[in-house]
Parts: sequence; C-alpha cells; structure tokens
Amino acid sequence: MKRMLPAFAAVLTLLAGAAGAAEEKWSYAGETGPEHWGQLDPAYAPCAQGGSQSPVNLTGMIEAELEPLKFDYTGLVTKMQNNGSSVQASYTAGSFLTAGGRTYELKQIHFHAPSEHLLEGKQLPLEAHFVHAAADGQLAVVAVLYNLGDENPELKKLWQQMPADVGQEVGMAAQVRAEKLLPENRDYYRLSGSLTTPPCTEGVLWLILKNQSAVSEAQVRQFSEVIGHPNNRPVQPLKSRAVLQ
Ligand SMILES: [Zn+2]
Repeated sequence: MKRMLPAFAAVLTLLAGAAGAAEEKWSYAGETGPEHWGQLDPAYAPCAQGGSQSPVNLTGMIEAELEPLKFDYTGLVTKMQNNGSSVQASYTAGSFLTAGGRTYELKQIHFHAPSEHLLEGKQLPLEAHFVHAAADGQLAVVAVLYNLGDENPELKKLWQQMPADVGQEVGMAAQVRAEKLLPENRDYYRLSGSLTTPPCTEGVLWLILKNQSAVSEAQVRQFSEVIGHPNNRPVQPLKSRAVLQ
C-alpha cells in the first residue's frame, strides 16, 4: 500500500479537523487576508509562490476528449460542522468518484459564498466543493456553481442542520445523499490547481461542473449570515494552464 504524501495527509487532517479554523492564522480580510497568506507561515508559501493556484476565472476553454465522470456515491452526510471559514458536511466512507482512470473517495463537502471560480468573468452566488482523495492522497475537487433561482430542496435538508457557532457540530436529522446535490448533467471543465485555503497545496485536480444548480436568495443569505463574511479567495492567474472541456 502506498503511503500518503505528508503534505496531503496534513491537508486532509486540516480538512477533516474539528477544532481547525477558529484558531487559524489566516482569514478572508485585512492583515491575515488572502493577499498575505503566503507570508503568514512558511508552510503557506505556495499561496504566494505557486504556479497553479486556485480558484481561477474559467475562460479560453480548450476542447478535449474528457471522459465522463463516474460518481458512485452511496453514503450519507453524517454531520455538519462550522469551522469558521466554511460550513462543512462530513460524509460516510465508501463513496467514490472515478476521473481520468483514477478513483477518489469523497471526504467532505463545503461551501463558498460568493463563488470562488468565475465563469467567463462572472461570479455566482454560491459554490460547493466536493473534496475527494485517492489512496495516495492526491485530491480531486468537484465544484458545483449555483445560480439564483428556486429554493434548493437538498441544500434545504442539509442547511436545516446549519451549525451557527464556530466549532459547532450538528448531526444530521434528514438523510442527505451527496449525489442529489449534483446537477443531472455532469459535463465539466478540468484543470490542475490548488487548495483555495492555506496551505494552498498544489496538485489538486479540479473538475468544475458546467451546469449550475439553483439556490434561493434566502438560502445564500442563511449561509452568509452564519459565516459572517465572504469566504471566497480572489481568482489567481491561470499562467500556463489550460482549462479543458
Ligand atoms: Zn473550498
């Protein structure tokens, strides 16, 4: 069995950690905001020096023969957790994504408002990140962008258990299946990138679904009020990367 790369093991601990962001040294504004992340800790250097940082403005897409994504999501959301930088849904083991011939296990789902990725320069009100890890620790994140529209019934089930306080964890009353949080059409854009929070680790496979889901204004407001501030990192330069579709 391959050992998990230490950097990714640390990232997964961070992503899964309960205590986490309340004591983090980074934030989304001011002296510990995104433009300073790279200087806050030597471990955060990629935030400033990386060559393939996320999020990006999705533009100049190049046609490619991308294999369909295969979702084998069987589990349920177990709990919702407010880690100060986002609200995160933990997931039972045993749900998998196959992309580009590799298999990744779904670890957690969290949200950003407004969206982190821009679509041809356009920002959307909400973005969900489905974070997956392969057995060797490589991360693949499926991003779903939301348009303002009708109330989203699956998000409603999830956000009924919205933990209002930083550090708070709430068990799930309703059964929420991750697959129902995805739009039916799973065509996607593909590019390599990074975590969008410190330590901004690179080597993350980004799979951004082309089709948006709907979310109501009240639902976006509910999330934003709990987080208390925008939790999107500004877009980073694409540099030599191509966005495939
Ligand atoms: Zn995220």
